[in-house]
Amino acid sequence: MMAESRARGSWIYPERDQVIHGDATVAAPPSKHTQHETVDKETGEIRRHRVDPDASYTTEGGGRRVYGNKFLSLAVRVARTPHSRVILALESVRHKSKKRDPEREDEGAAVVRLVHHLLNKAPGIRAFTYDTALRGVHRAPLIADGIVVFTRQHGGLAPHSLQRYEKNYKNGKCSHYLYTAEGRVCERHITVDGETYYAPLPVEELERRKQKKSRFYHRLAIPCSRGDHELRIRVDETKEDREIDPSSQKPRFNRAEHLRQIPPDTPAGRRLLGFRQDSESIHSRFDQAYPHKRVPAYGANAGLLIYIGYAWVNNSITRALGQRPFGLAA
Ligand SMILES: [Zn+2]
Repeated sequence: MMAESRARGSWIYPERDQVIHGDATVAAPPSKHTQHETVDKETGEIRRHRVDPDASYTTEGGGRRVYGNKFLSLAVRVARTPHSRVILALESVRHKSKKRDPEREDEGAAVVRLVHHLLNKAPGIRAFTYDTALRGVHRAPLIADGIVVFTRQHGGLAPHSLQRYEKNYKNGKCSHYLYTAEGRVCERHITVDGETYYAPLPVEELERRKQKKSRFYHRLAIPCSRGDHELRIRVDETKEDREIDPSSQKPRFNRAEHLRQIPPDTPAGRRLLGFRQDSESIHSRFDQAYPHKRVPAYGANAGLLIYIGYAWVNNSITRALGQRPFGLAA
């Protein structure tokens, strides 16, 4: 897995074992109590409880409120091979305000640091797939490291004007208005009803140019009655993108948020989205490994130690089965 030497898939269709997947989960502490003392309103009885010092309430992706400590895991596995998963990195991450928990990193910062670390150890990694907690600001430095970073597109992102493509001909010129929408370059059309319509431009290729930092380009075709136009658009963050716009006092263009190396709603995107499911499986099995689905330790650091033990067992099983003479599939 993650070998640099062997033949690999394309940037758009990397091999399963060249793709790191990750997710964060909130694991329940041994006690569900949030108060050290409770008073029975009828009898007046005072009861004392042990309270996890780090746990708190947090809202999960689906809007469900959960109580516990937040852990992050990154892993890799081989395609169509049971018990091939290796957990590569674990961390306990902040899930309350920075003021209340100044020591821990937030989820996005921790993900970027851990993936950086893995890339230093295993340069054969081609892609990383995560959920929408990872925004453009987190994706940009990982893309610059030379990998494809895939997440679903964050909702509520309005189309953004990108550039006007013009070409002069003897009998006049043609203009195409290019926008970003749904994570990719689209051409804006006005329909006969006066509605705005964004037509996605076909991506012919995802190109990587590697210098000190990597650059990624979409090679696009603009369909045109005068003959299709070809152009390249950067899909990683440029120096100009980061310049502060004097009028808004913000960076000019959050490119990694608006343009995606692999647009989410494509067959290649859905394939990478599917790889992330394995993270849910890791967390689910971690929960099920302990009585009442509660981590048997108080505090985030102790919980992380328990999680490391769980990962050790998981990776040991993978190692033991992977050393069979004919591999796992045999
Ligand atoms: Zn044209």
